[in-house]
Amino acid sequence: MKQLESKGLYRIPTPTPFPVGAANVYLYKGDALTLFDAGTKTDDAWGVLTCRLRELGVALRDIEQIILTHHHLDHLGLSRRIKDASNAIVYAHPEAAAQIPYMYDESESRLYLEPTLRELGVPATVVEEIIALRHLNSNLLDDFVIDKTVAEDTPVGPFEAHFRPGHSITDTLYVHHTERWALTGDHLIRNVTPNPLLRRRLENGVREHTLVQYCDALKKTRELELSWCLPGHGAPFQDHRSVADATFRHIERRGEKVLQAVPQTGATPYDVTCALFPRLKGPERYYCLCAATGHLELLESQGRLHSARRDGVLHYIPQEHTTISR
Ligand SMILES: [Zn+2]
Repeated sequence: MKQLESKGLYRIPTPTPFPVGAANVYLYKGDALTLFDAGTKTDDAWGVLTCRLRELGVALRDIEQIILTHHHLDHLGLSRRIKDASNAIVYAHPEAAAQIPYMYDESESRLYLEPTLRELGVPATVVEEIIALRHLNSNLLDDFVIDKTVAEDTPVGPFEAHFRPGHSITDTLYVHHTERWALTGDHLIRNVTPNPLLRRRLENGVREHTLVQYCDALKKTRELELSWCLPGHGAPFQDHRSVADATFRHIERRGEKVLQAVPQTGATPYDVTCALFPRLKGPERYYCLCAATGHLELLESQGRLHSARRDGVLHYIPQEHTTISR
């Protein structure tokens, strides 16, 4: 990190109330004074960020731009507060502004979460529990402003934006065109496999196969020539291909476990989640449902499972079994 600091790039870990731990904000003293991501909207994160900026000789009012790697609360939380203090321009993926209410506003998110959970076989009482628990964090939401949207393969100053949907639809990699640093957000993190969260396309309501999408995106990142990766959580690293390979191996191992949890008669994603994580409750169960569904879809794309709808509910069935029964 010292080498990066000598070129004006600094990591500022900020506290979050989430199990993931600290979220990184990066300060880049380039032609424009830039922050990548903006921590969580808590007084603790604000205190840490402003104190560290002062130590680095930067006044908050001088920040000129905030570039968001994706629209999750631990990454965009303080952007409004920083903008109010500095008038910085906030850049994000074109879908970020539309996605924020769908993630966090109760009535909006119910519109897509309810049919999604029903389709995955979640019982009605658990649907309500999951929706209620997801809104416990609504105090961390602010009146966000996105001033400019970034475009695929287009520069924002010296950084090229590359869209990497998977963990979220708005995940964007920013690569410095000469230094080859990549701000990877939650797309690529050492020792952490990002959970591709459930979602539907806003325009047509079609549920996306988020883990399939993530694996495709990660393959593209693996091919890039990069010097340093600066992730949204944890320490920067240089060996991005081995970190990507470790992530692929982890996905493969998890996929085998998911496959073993599917009985010959078939199971819904919710059944599989309960079989794999019998003791989990509430929000943890939701995140496991996201992971299990992603794996079922990935296994189907590999021809190892197939899906069928029974009364509008998705069931996955091992592929060998259908061959035998035919
Ligand atoms: Zn994050």
